Amino acid sequence: MQKAGELLRGGELVAFPTETVYGLGANGLDGEAAKKIYEAKGRPSDNPLILHVASLYQFKELSGKLSRSAILLAGEFWPGPMTLVVKKNKHIPDVVTAGLDTVAVRYPANRDAQELIRAAGVPIAAPSANLSGSPSPTNARDVLEDMEGRIAAILDGGGCSVGGESTIIDTTTNRVAILRPGGIPVEMVEGLLGAVQLDPALQGVEAAVPKAPGMKYRHYAPKAKVVLCQTFQEIGAAVRENRGKKRKIGVIAQKRVVGCFSRVYRDGAELAEKLFAFLRDLDRKQVEIIYVETVLETGIGLAVMNRLRKAAR
Ligand code: AMP
Ligand code: MG
Repeated sequence: MQKAGELLRGGELVAFPTETVYGLGANGLDGEAAKKIYEAKGRPSDNPLILHVASLYQFKELSGKLSRSAILLAGEFWPGPMTLVVKKNKHIPDVVTAGLDTVAVRYPANRDAQELIRAAGVPIAAPSANLSGSPSPTNARDVLEDMEGRIAAILDGGGCSVGGESTIIDTTTNRVAILRPGGIPVEMVEGLLGAVQLDPALQGVEAAVPKAPGMKYRHYAPKAKVVLCQTFQEIGAAVRENRGKKRKIGVIAQKRVVGCFSRVYRDGAELAEKLFAFLRDLDRKQVEIIYVETVLETGIGLAVMNRLRKAAR
């Protein structure tokens, strides 16, 4: 932990676990260090990073004037899988925010993440630790697959408990808006604040430009083609049709399918936790196509279906 903190302070990149996905961290107050994140990931420079903190005090130091909803949300859901977009304080380097006058901040619940932020002594700028465009990593092996030779170290903390990414909430306008669904369900946010807006781009409005710049990219995509199926029967039919074609087929569903690479989940929460690892795992098996049984878009299901639609595009 001390070594990882030193590397970060010295301007190096260190991948680390959080409860959502593994982050690719750099000293968030050092523009040169943060620039290395974009290089290592092949990330477009218009896609800002999230600053990770280990206290509310550290959060306040990074932000300008906070709205009432930002204060309420921070008090209720931090530490946890929620990212708040707030007005930024002047001392944050432009590379971190991609030139925006707002900054995205998160206080993760994962103990290793908190300890690392304290060891570094600075906020840690970190997007997910995958190559740009591929599924986010939820274990150290998946990070290594994408980042070997590109970064100084990986802090291995085992698997991520939430798996999906954080919920991004814009608190800088009059009406609070969800920019990316994630680990904190919209229903819980509304339980605290009353009705909130969903960024129109999330509802498939074609012309809408997403307010979280990262949401416009084709994310989360495995190499295999992804096909979404509403029922298990549909998957059965598709698999039967492919028999005899000697194709390698992957299936992610609530029941096992014999004769293919089958990955089983119990409910939306388990699919959220395991989806990215399943996709990466099935890619390693070199399947051509992955059939996925979809889940209802309530609770964590909204975040899962948002990622699945992007993967299936
Ligand atoms: P990642 O951690 O890889 O999921 O990337 C961070 C996400 O946060 C991306 O989708 C960014 O577009 C989004 N983000 C970061 N800063 C801001 C900001 N100031 N306003 C809106 N979205 C942001
Ligand atoms: Mg990402």
